[in-house]
Amino acid sequence: MNSGGQIEYIVVGSGAGGGALAARLAEAGRSVLLLEAGGDPRQLSGTNDDQPEINRLPDDYDVPSWHGFASENDAMRWDFFVRHYASDEMQQKDPKYRKEYRGVPVDGVLYPRAGTLGGCTAHNAMILVYPHNEDWDGIARLTGDQSWNAENMRRYFMRLENCHYRPLERALAAAGPNPSRHGWHGWLQSEVAIQRPRCAISVWCKYCSIRRMRCSTISGSRSNAFSTC
Ligand SMILES: Cc1cc2nc3c(=O)[nH]c(=O)nc-3n(C[C@H](O)[C@H](O)[C@H](O)COP(=O)(O)OP(=O)(O)OC[C@H]3O[C@@H](n4cnc5c(N)ncnc54)[C@H](O)[C@@H]3O)c2cc1C
Repeated sequence: MNSGGQIEYIVVGSGAGGGALAARLAEAGRSVLLLEAGGDPRQLSGTNDDQPEINRLPDDYDVPSWHGFASENDAMRWDFFVRHYASDEMQQKDPKYRKEYRGVPVDGVLYPRAGTLGGCTAHNAMILVYPHNEDWDGIARLTGDQSWNAENMRRYFMRLENCHYRPLERALAAAGPNPSRHGWHGWLQSEVAIQRPRCAISVWCKYCSIRRMRCSTISGSRSNAFSTC
């Protein structure tokens, strides 16, 4: 906040949207009050159901590849149960549908959120998916504001991305043409997931475990060895 203590903006929620908005306003010299319902994972203790005796914070929050653990950490998780389908029958076919959860009737499909500083970025797997053009154009139609249209929004994506998985197109773009319309100089580095090198033995083990799984599914028994199928 600037001196004088007058608040110009109140932002509710410190997630991907609110956190960035509050920071940009503060950087621009505006006075901002940011309200966050969750706690600070660097101050909290929390763990998952399988390891009740240890405190997994702040590591679950800090280590990006532990996003699965972060989603399970009871100091950050907010488990909502929602209606995804109008029909009860469809709703109950969803694998994440629960009638009861931890002894409480919920009658809904699990919709996990994070109640913590940073919001769902604390759970986020850092997967980057570019929205379909029709999604942007739909927002433009809905709001009557053409600045949301797909063509315009792609310009923003190109400004923020720093694509590192298309080396030839990167070189081509440096010379001018950019047919893929990726961005090359933004703050958001995009990469493909690092592949683990596979030796012949690990490929064989994987093959065997898939076969064993299939055999046990077919026979209905986990005790069947793959060699007997
Ligand atoms: C498990 C999981 C994995 C994900 N993985 C990816 C991914 O790999 N890639 C990707 O792009 N996206 C991913 N997402 C989605 C992405 O993280 C969200 O779309 C994004 O964080 C939404 O930002 P937001 O600001 O709208 O809301 P949120 O990030 O949910 O932030 C909302 C904030 O508001 C706070 N809040 C709520 N109510 C109140 C209140 N009454 N008063 C004060 N504060 C309040 C909450 O505590 C929270 O901090 C994932 C989401 C989840 C849950």
